[in-house]
Amino acid sequence: MPRYRVRIAGKHYDAMADLVRKHRLNIAGHTGKKAGRSRYIVDAFADSDQIEQLKSEGYSVDVREDVDEAGKKRQSEIRSLTTREPIRNVAAANHYLNVPDIENSLAVAATGSNAGFTRLIKLPNKTWEGRECHAIKIGQGSVTSRPGIYFLGGIHAREWGSPDILIHFVEQLCEAYRTQSGITLGGMDFTAVQIQKIVNEKDVYVFPQANPDGRHHSMTQAPNWRKNRRPAPAGSSNPDCVGVDLNRNYDFLWNYTVHFDPNAPVANSTDPCDHDVYIGPAPSSEPETKNVVWMFDNFPNIRYFIDIHSYSEDILYNWGDDQDQSQKPGMSFLNPAFDGKRGVAKDTRYQEYIASADKTAVVKLAKQMRAAILAVRGRKYAVTQSMSLYPTAGSSDDYAYSRHLADPSKPKIFSYTIEWGSADNETPFHPPYSEMKHIIQEITAALLEFCLRT
Ligand SMILES: [Zn+2]
Repeated sequence: MPRYRVRIAGKHYDAMADLVRKHRLNIAGHTGKKAGRSRYIVDAFADSDQIEQLKSEGYSVDVREDVDEAGKKRQSEIRSLTTREPIRNVAAANHYLNVPDIENSLAVAATGSNAGFTRLIKLPNKTWEGRECHAIKIGQGSVTSRPGIYFLGGIHAREWGSPDILIHFVEQLCEAYRTQSGITLGGMDFTAVQIQKIVNEKDVYVFPQANPDGRHHSMTQAPNWRKNRRPAPAGSSNPDCVGVDLNRNYDFLWNYTVHFDPNAPVANSTDPCDHDVYIGPAPSSEPETKNVVWMFDNFPNIRYFIDIHSYSEDILYNWGDDQDQSQKPGMSFLNPAFDGKRGVAKDTRYQEYIASADKTAVVKLAKQMRAAILAVRGRKYAVTQSMSLYPTAGSSDDYAYSRHLADPSKPKIFSYTIEWGSADNETPFHPPYSEMKHIIQEITAALLEFCLRT
């Protein structure tokens, strides 16, 4: 049965929570947009039966595209796997880069005249399908106190543009540094002096394509695929039984069935055959997750982290498991007394602790990124806490920021998720490439601004 992207409007928190609790819908993004005092709007995915059911219960449902049909058409906007044309840089591209293109572009960026200030990093774990992944370190000099900034992309298979954004960022930064020039992205300018400052004073780590198996599957088979490609449990023939949602697999409140209120609208699943949000058999069970974590462990100067996703034009900061509070340090993910109480918005039984100085710092940086995005072509991203309507467990940003709290010997890492692209785009996980070009510029501007301001 075809699945559609739908825009659902409903009244009151409970009605919106029921979309997950009762209807088991996959909601796109963590946030619901407020429309009026008590009305919310979310994007989700539903088949015809589910749409009828929702309408009969009083939700207003605006049906958008058939995600597989429209996604299949969009696959023609990916650079062919068999083309003999050499890859040009992303700034000159007119197609999404395919999976080998991303690896090739990263390798090229770390060689030749860039070799003096870049290093290609081979990740230790091969994917389930045997692919090798790489990251790049950009930084000139050896001051030991220099902070590390870590950008991650490509965790969710269908969000095609994130690796392209990060390759573009790498290409622009390396070229401008090498040639001592500035960078212009739409209406946003970075001077040559600013670019020199980034590379001379910081270590920038970029891991652009963390789930190549999933991305390849989405680009060549099922466009709406989200998970990795862990083989299905023995005996299952349903294609949905393949894969783990890598952004539910990190070691942060991973076992949500214990840590969360049974009534919380947490969009996670222990069912390997869930199409989107299976959490995996154990925390950090997946080779792709292990690679992301290895970067934190192996480069202890990392102090900042951004995970690039789509869509909804949001810059999200911690926490994702419940609403923030800065009064009660003991009310935290570390305290088992609160098991069974987490994840319900608008109650005070549980809220996650964040020191107020940390919150002030992360919001300030997020607003600086928002301003850079706005300057490119006027898009207004929202700066908001990850948890608004729907809590998450086992996600990368909460894991990264929680590391120093779970183990005080580890450094504090300020963490974000950026959800690029508007819900108004058709197939917003992989918008028309002409639109993606603008988004690539916007997010590159945000990341450069972030490097300058940290
Ligand atoms: Zn995502």
